[in-house]
Amino acid sequence: MQGRLTDRVAVVTGAGSGIGLATVRRFAAEGATVVCVDIDAEAGRRAADEVAGDFVACDVADDTSVRELFDGVVARHGRVDVAFNNAGISPPDDDSILETGLDAWERVLRVNTTSVYLCCRHVIPHMRRQGRGSIINTASFVALMGAATSQIAYTASKGGVLAMTRELGVQFAREGIRVNALCPGPVATPLLLELFAADPERAARRLVHVPMGRFGAPEEIAAAVAFLASDDSSFMTASQFVVDGGITGAYVTPL
Ligand code: NAD
Repeated sequence: MQGRLTDRVAVVTGAGSGIGLATVRRFAAEGATVVCVDIDAEAGRRAADEVAGDFVACDVADDTSVRELFDGVVARHGRVDVAFNNAGISPPDDDSILETGLDAWERVLRVNTTSVYLCCRHVIPHMRRQGRGSIINTASFVALMGAATSQIAYTASKGGVLAMTRELGVQFAREGIRVNALCPGPVATPLLLELFAADPERAARRLVHVPMGRFGAPEEIAAAVAFLASDDSSFMTASQFVVDGGITGAYVTPL
């Protein structure tokens, strides 16, 4: 069977680690030419080398860099079919609103929300010319439900991604451009595992709310991204696609 992304050019931001890296591998396995974007040149280049793709060093919160990124992709490859706007941060100084200063708030909003605005702003004109394209913006389940273990800037940043995505999906629906938000539940990335290994109580406090009783794997999120990127999801746009082990549907979870 042919890959679902054969002959497609796909850009992945935050390609060097976690969900982005798993998606780079999945997109390549589905036949795509993958452009790996990361602020961390070493990790991004490693991801690109693994799939014989391109690497572009870029801070996705910088207007000029993002414009040059997408113009460059179209100049080199002739088109851009998929944009997975995934890079994001969740720094330790983003905490309760009582502790989180303006510096952390603005940094998180810039990297998590302004970056999505910039990527969409600079990729959509190319997709309009082509008359097709699939954009997937990474939000989070915390955009849909509240947590007493707050990271207030992160939560607000992902709420912004969700609302922006819905609006873009509606605005460009008749031009062949689909825009969907991905809402992963907690994913067992190396950073999260390290944090929870050092503090098992912290993990237990969260796991009790997950019906499946475990965190997700990056590959499980990548499979959902590949679906949203491909024509298998051709009647989906402006959606919030939840991949969360059942968290957002749960009241009392199994023992
Ligand atoms: P990660 O930290 O493993 O990877 C993020 C990548 O983004 C890194 O390679 C980093 O270098 C890159 N990056 C950071 N700032 C950048 C910038 N300004 N420009 C370009 N690249 C930059 O993170 P992850 O856990 O794979 O998360 C990926 C996305 O998924 C994020 O948007 C995150 O908020 C979201 N998310 C993660 C989880 C989770 O539990 N891991 C859950 C829900 C949503």
